[in-house]
Amino acid sequence: AADTAMYHAKAQGRNNVQFFTAEMNAAAAERMELERDLHHAIAHQQLDVHYQPQVQAASGRVCGVEALLRWPHPTRGQVSPLKFIPIAEESGLIEALGAWVLRQACQQVAHWKSIGIHGVRMAVNLSAHQLRSRQLVDTVREAMHAHGVQAGELELEITESAVMKDPQAAIDTLQQLRDLGVHLAIDDFGTGYSSLAYLKLLPVDVLKIDRSFVKDIETDRNDAAICASILALAKSLGLKVVAEGVETAAQRDFLDSHGCDYLQGYFFAKPQPAALCAEQWRQAPALPAPVNP
Ligand code: C2E
Ligand code: MG
Ligand code: MG
Ligand code: MG
Repeated sequence: AADTAMYHAKAQGRNNVQFFTAEMNAAAAERMELERDLHHAIAHQQLDVHYQPQVQAASGRVCGVEALLRWPHPTRGQVSPLKFIPIAEESGLIEALGAWVLRQACQQVAHWKSIGIHGVRMAVNLSAHQLRSRQLVDTVREAMHAHGVQAGELELEITESAVMKDPQAAIDTLQQLRDLGVHLAIDDFGTGYSSLAYLKLLPVDVLKIDRSFVKDIETDRNDAAICASILALAKSLGLKVVAEGVETAAQRDFLDSHGCDYLQGYFFAKPQPAALCAEQWRQAPALPAPVNP
């Protein structure tokens, strides 16, 4: 009987190994295909940037947008940035792609100003690789200058994990970006390996509460406590807070009553093409009437 059991275990083990290998091969093949397609998409300008409004909690006015990359793949449909950004990072495509998003976003700010929409803060995500790149500060400066983007009009979002890979280097880079008049936000706050000691040293302006803490804020006492604590911490450090993933009025009310400055989520608007943002602003003057720069 013991022999039989061992035989089964071995057979199963072998099967598992085979199954695992087949799955890995499929994943590797898909990844290679996506990498190849991403090269092509970047070269043929098939990627797109959508913009998701951020609303001031106190007034309900749109005060900014976050730029979010979209890749409408010819056969796969929309590929999530959660899938293709890591590929872009690993294959060295992120440098060019990130610079392109920055230029697009700055150009969009300029376009909105040219049609009378002023005071919209543009938030752009930076990947860990971009934060480590020596080119970053020049790229940001050039994108701002090319489109006349002023101090306070651009915000860059970085994650705790990106910072913690090399905190001292990150602090230097962030300080240089700050000197350009760029605002800095910590994205997905609370999900990475952050150190409160570094939070004190980082030249940042904004914390973005991760969507995962907002989701069950009404029913999960721990999530409610985490959000309230982040808001209290931010307040005592003099930082503004954006809550991500706000989908319901109850979530909005909780966050607002705990002093959250800005709200972002499907409750207000999904990420959408720039033209749609402008259209909404025109049709709903109560929302984002131009703020003086
Ligand atoms: P993120 O920076 O945390 O962006 C917020 C994500 O939450 C976006 O997903 C947005 O569509 C989604 N979201 C916003 N409101 C809601 C809501 O109410 N409910 C739900 N369920 N989701 C909501 P998206 O566009 O799929 O982007 C995913 C991530 O990909 C981003 O997370 C960011 O880390 C990365 N990413 C997107 N665009 C770029 C980019 O241009 N550069 C870099 N480096 N990363 C980017
Ligand atoms: Mg973000
Ligand atoms: Mg985020
Ligand atoms: Mg997030």
